[in-house]
Formats: sequence, structure tokens, C-alpha cells
Amino acid sequence: MSGETMLEVRNVSAGYGSFRALFDVSLEVKAGEAVAVIGPNGAGKTTLLRVISKLIPATSGEIRMTGTLLGPMAPDKVVELGIAHVPENRRLFPRLTVEENLRMGAYVPSARAKFRERLEFVYELFPRMRERRGQLAGTLSGGEQQMCAIGRALMSGPKLLLMDEPSAGLAPVIVQQVFRLVERIRAEGYTVLIVEQNVQQVLRVADRAYLLEVGGIRRSGSAAELLASDEIRQSYLGI
Ligand code: ATP
Repeated sequence: MSGETMLEVRNVSAGYGSFRALFDVSLEVKAGEAVAVIGPNGAGKTTLLRVISKLIPATSGEIRMTGTLLGPMAPDKVVELGIAHVPENRRLFPRLTVEENLRMGAYVPSARAKFRERLEFVYELFPRMRERRGQLAGTLSGGEQQMCAIGRALMSGPKLLLMDEPSAGLAPVIVQQVFRLVERIRAEGYTVLIVEQNVQQVLRVADRAYLLEVGGIRRSGSAAELLASDEIRQSYLGI
């Protein structure tokens, strides 16, 4: 089903109280694609992912997942539709073990029955997590924590992964490893929408990207086009 629209965000606005963080944002992600959303601090990137996951409501506009309108529904319904969110700063349960954290990713009813099978899948994908399965998540290295957070998201059996700044706060060598993880996820057939401040790296793993500035989409194009653009190079790549 590669090439079909998986996620469609149309004219979405959202905010916090009277503050508007997103204005009329439209974007789409096709099955099999990796799409990046880049932009400066405070542009609304995290807010965009929260709106898609229904962690905060849109004040206007529509979001569809494989054609199904995400109306007023609880976040667990969004998970059931095949969207998994890997939040900023990973948000693991530090006092739970790796395996207990992974179990938390399989909390929706449809995922519970497949827990064993998916756990095995995550452990095959990330052997390091099998080795560390009894370790408290709070004691994992930054890169391992990101692996655990991605693994937890995969436990719900998603089609689409929303990744919020997976490289944030990690040492450069670990950042490289995290982007390799993103490539692995793609190779497994997952569709990815990834928010990143590390523009250079993310444009190397993404097919397409949107530039979000002060709550609005300013530009979009293929990753290659954006990497070559003078505007992006000057503002975001420092070259
Ligand atoms: P960063 O890259 O720094 O994480 P971002 O692009 O992800 O930034 P958001 O976190 O989406 O940006 O924030 C967009 C705007 O909404 C910012 O002005 C921010 O201060 C504001 N904002 C975010 N969360 C809240 C909140 N819970 N309450 C009020 N305002 C918020």
C-alpha cells in the first residue's frame, strides 16, 4: 500500500488556553514515507505531534488516519488506529525495568493479546533491550533509553510512528546511532513522522520535510531540495 495517504492533517489550529501555537497547518504522510518536521525552538513541532495523538485538542481542522477521521476521541483510540507516539525526552518510567516499560506500550486491549509476540519482535530488532530487560530504565544510557522508548511505541503494533526529537540531549556519537535506529524502523516498513532540530541529520533519513515556523508551515519539499536550499542552509545548517 506504499504511496497511499496514511496521515492527513488539514488546516489544523491548536493552542494552550488563549495562546495559539499552530495556525492552519496542513501536511500529509504517505504509507512507507519518513517525513520530517523541522523548525526552531517554540515553532510548534511538539504541539503538532500532541494534536495528532489527541493529547491536546485541535481548535479547528481535521486529521485522518488511513481515511478515518480522528474526531473527538481519547488518545488510546488513536493508538488503536495505528499511531504510536515516541515523546520528547523519552518519558520512560525510570523505576520500572526495560521489560515493564515495554509492557506499558501494549496497554490497549488489541495489543495485550499480542504482547509476547511483539516483545520478541522488539528484542530481535534491539538485542540490547533483551540483554537489559531486567535493568531499571532510569539507569540506561541516553541511546538505550531512546531504543526503549521506540520499542515501547512498537509494542502497540503501530503503522505510523510519531517521533519527537529523538536526538535531543544526546552526545553526537549517540545521535548517529539514533538516526541509524530511525533507518532500521523504516526498513521494517513503518511509516515515520519525525520532529527534529538536528536538521542536517534528519534530512538525510527523511524523504520529505516541512518547515514549521511560528506555528505555520513555511515550506515543504523533498529532503534533498531542502538540504540544498540557501534559506535552510543559512538558517538551520549554519552554512
Ligand atoms: P522545541 O523545539 O523547543 O521543543 P517546539 O517547536 O516543539 O519547540 P512547542 O513545544 O510545540 O514547540 O511549543 C509551541 C509554543 O507553545 C511555544 O511558544 C510554547 O511556549 C507553547 N507551549 C507549549 N506547551 C505549552 C503549555 N503546556 N502551555 C502553554 N504554552 C505551551
